[in-house]
Amino acid sequence: MAVSQTPEVEADVPETIVRSRSRYTNVLHRPDPDSDEPYPACPVRDSEKEYTEAPAKAYLGHYDLCENPECFGREWR
Ligand SMILES: [Zn+2]
Repeated sequence: MAVSQTPEVEADVPETIVRSRSRYTNVLHRPDPDSDEPYPACPVRDSEKEYTEAPAKAYLGHYDLCENPECFGREWR
């Protein structure tokens, strides 16, 4: 099974992502499907209050994908 890994973009990135409004963080999170507010799906949301939704393609390549398993982290196999 030859699986070519493309580290760059789109593993499983939705069109809309969530990012902190803080200018000091540049991490993209997966939106929490259970929340009406734009919150990340991972626990990092507890450390910041202000999040906003954004189109993923505007940030991919500039921002890092969140590595938490709830967002874009990979499960270890
Ligand atoms: Zn996250």
